[in-house]
Amino acid sequence: MKFSDIEFDTYFKNYPTQDGFFGKYGGAYVSPELKNAMKEITEAYSTICKSSKFISELRRIRKEFQGRPTPISHLERLSGSIGNGVQLYVKREDLNHTGAHKLNHCMGEVLLAKYMGKKKVIAETGAGQHGVALATAAAYFGLECDIYMGAVDIKKQAPNVARMKILGARVVEVTEGLQTLKEAVDAAFKAYCNEYKDAIYCIGSVLGPHPFPMMVRDFQSVIGIEAREQFLEMTGELPDAVVACVGGGSNAMGMFAGFLNDPVAIYGVEPLGRGETLGEHAASIRYGEEGIMHGFNSIMLKDENGEPAPVYSVASGLDYPSSGPEHAFLHDIGRVKYDVATDEETVDAFYSLSRLEGIIPAIESSHAVAFAIKLAKQMDKGSILINLSGRGDKDMDYIIERYGIR
Ligand SMILES: *Cc1c(COP(=O)(O)O)cnc(C)c1O
Repeated sequence: MKFSDIEFDTYFKNYPTQDGFFGKYGGAYVSPELKNAMKEITEAYSTICKSSKFISELRRIRKEFQGRPTPISHLERLSGSIGNGVQLYVKREDLNHTGAHKLNHCMGEVLLAKYMGKKKVIAETGAGQHGVALATAAAYFGLECDIYMGAVDIKKQAPNVARMKILGARVVEVTEGLQTLKEAVDAAFKAYCNEYKDAIYCIGSVLGPHPFPMMVRDFQSVIGIEAREQFLEMTGELPDAVVACVGGGSNAMGMFAGFLNDPVAIYGVEPLGRGETLGEHAASIRYGEEGIMHGFNSIMLKDENGEPAPVYSVASGLDYPSSGPEHAFLHDIGRVKYDVATDEETVDAFYSLSRLEGIIPAIESSHAVAFAIKLAKQMDKGSILINLSGRGDKDMDYIIERYGIR
């Protein structure tokens, strides 16, 4: 099947299917107990998301609490430095409350939890970004919040641990194995199995078993819907290309959702880290193969035993050995192209955006900026819209320490 075979008016109705499949990707590969929990969430979501009360409450929150709509900025000086007339623009998710796109789906997930009568939200976090966004949403709605985090990450990410605690979340230290994200995922899932009657698990990207890839996409699609309208208003045209970084893929899916049915080239950018050798990057769609992990089927990086491979990126938010099932699908049908940016290109882009535009980007988002600069150099005219998924305050100390001032 090719993209042109799909009736795009009905794309969002048909993908995922009722069982949560995007082509062969997605699904819900979980224990029978959790299967029931997932079914409960799916049913609740499909009713509640259509209710006008839920929709208007979410709209009000976005406007009055999150600061949406976030603007689009024209990058005049960065475009000028490329010098061939191609114009770059950024959608400013760095200006969303808490400084990144993650709050878009956390507010949606916790509002759903409230409508379902749950008392608690549970999640894991690696670098702490998802934990902070979820703790923020839980504080807003008055729900309890348990965040599972590896002991090693707790030491490394002290400011985010402090934020979560100040916001009233319980940070649960995980001391198994390597004491990082993978063990935290396992511990959070285990806790959820015991508490699913009173609690809901809140996944941090378009990952995990159905209905999470669909729900998180739907909540994030506000980015692409706003961006399309704003770009048309600003320039009178659609962009020629749209670019976003892909870790799990939630900021990218949110942006792409606004443009799938348009004559716009779409690019997802994966981290090439230090190079093509397995273990030195986290470019799962480019170098991975089909496989099941964390409850869903997608494209993933495997080691020699077929287990999820160790991955690396300068951006801890992109450091995941798979990507959401919808990205695997959009890749296979040829609608979205997946390309890469290295650590070095990314750090250069981080400094370029800071110096030429006065915007310090998250190191994750800097991957999208780095690729957009490469793409602009290959074009001879036109425009590129980049999703700037977050701000870079969290990365400043590390970048200076490791790479120096450029
Ligand atoms: C977490 C994070 C990402 C990666 O997550 P996706 O689900 O791939 O969007 C990207 N950018 C920022 C700023 C993040 O915090």
